[in-house]
Amino acid sequence: MARSSQATGQMGVGGAAVSIRNLSKRYNNYNAVVATTIDIESGDFFAIIGPSGSGKSTLLGMIAGYIDPTAGQIVINGRDIVPEPIYRRNIGMVFQNYALFPHLTVAQNVGYPLKIRGVSSAEIAKRVGESLAMVRLDAFASRMPSELSGGQQQRVALARASIYKPSILLMDEPLGALDKNLRDEMQEEIKRFQQEMGVTVVYVTHDQQEAAFLADRIAIMRDGAMTQIGSPRQLYEQPNSRFVAEFLGEASIFPVKSASSKGDGQLQLIVLEDGTQVAIRSELDAGPGSFACIRPERATIGPKARSLRNAYTGTVRESLYTPGSIRYRVDLSGTGCSLKVRVLPQAAIDFLETGSLVDIGWSDDDMTILTE
Ligand code: ADP
Repeated sequence: MARSSQATGQMGVGGAAVSIRNLSKRYNNYNAVVATTIDIESGDFFAIIGPSGSGKSTLLGMIAGYIDPTAGQIVINGRDIVPEPIYRRNIGMVFQNYALFPHLTVAQNVGYPLKIRGVSSAEIAKRVGESLAMVRLDAFASRMPSELSGGQQQRVALARASIYKPSILLMDEPLGALDKNLRDEMQEEIKRFQQEMGVTVVYVTHDQQEAAFLADRIAIMRDGAMTQIGSPRQLYEQPNSRFVAEFLGEASIFPVKSASSKGDGQLQLIVLEDGTQVAIRSELDAGPGSFACIRPERATIGPKARSLRNAYTGTVRESLYTPGSIRYRVDLSGTGCSLKVRVLPQAAIDFLETGSLVDIGWSDDDMTILTE
């Protein structure tokens, strides 16, 4: 969902809608991006995730203007910008490596885009002050980039990319060089910043957690194409393929041998490849070639499992206590199925050691069908 109510923040001019139509990039005989179509709403925080080499940076480069598409259009506010040079596109860009000018102060770095646009010194000073306040670096205006931490340098890059009030901000792995704690802090910062600016953000990351935290919508790329686009919740709860289910979060996935009926929301009795029977309620057909998928938190362990539609006994093969969750791998008795299970470490829950025999189950709407 677009944040249209926040589309003009205190500093911002609001975001622009971006419509990418049949966009392709071919290098010699390699298709880096293949006929990709995406509609990004004004003020949306749109993340692109996918494995290394799937075409994320190439796509971003084509929007920014430093990579020429082989075919297709990028329509912003009703106009195809592909023929336009970078400086006419009104798009801000933040990279992983900050790309600050080392010989300029923080204030000079942030003011640089205005300077090359011929803005007066008085106006530059005023807007640099506002921009640095937005990223909470007012007190650092006269420092050199080398005197800042990684997170602070990235905030300078953010202030610089947004000082000329672009309607679109592109970010390519902006937190990739930071350590975990700083990354979490910067995620909050970027989210707040985007909401206050009302700017449309297209954000490339390989980190699915980061994408899920930041984005209104996520597109998952594979081999130069979009495999699925949706909210973090849609992608997690209704993945359309094995690839998406495994890329975003953890899942136990089993090949289907046959199913009793079509998936029209009714109960389907499904036989898995190893002969195990499961009951699933889904709109999708669980034909041969499809998969049954269950997320680790959807399985129930303990006596309550006995009353669920899919009820088994099993043996705990692995157990691991991690902060905030307990993870098990449970082999279902008399089957070839092994399930990843995650439970909250509540007071009433025992920690099960490896080798424990347990009841394990899930209801018919805890499993989803993956058609490929
Ligand atoms: P990602 O950002 O998802 O890691 P990229 O967009 O950087 O992927 O690259 C997509 C594919 O295009 C990769 O296989 C990469 O090797 C190829 N590629 C990228 N840039 C070039 C180039 N200038 N010449 C040839 N192949 C390229």
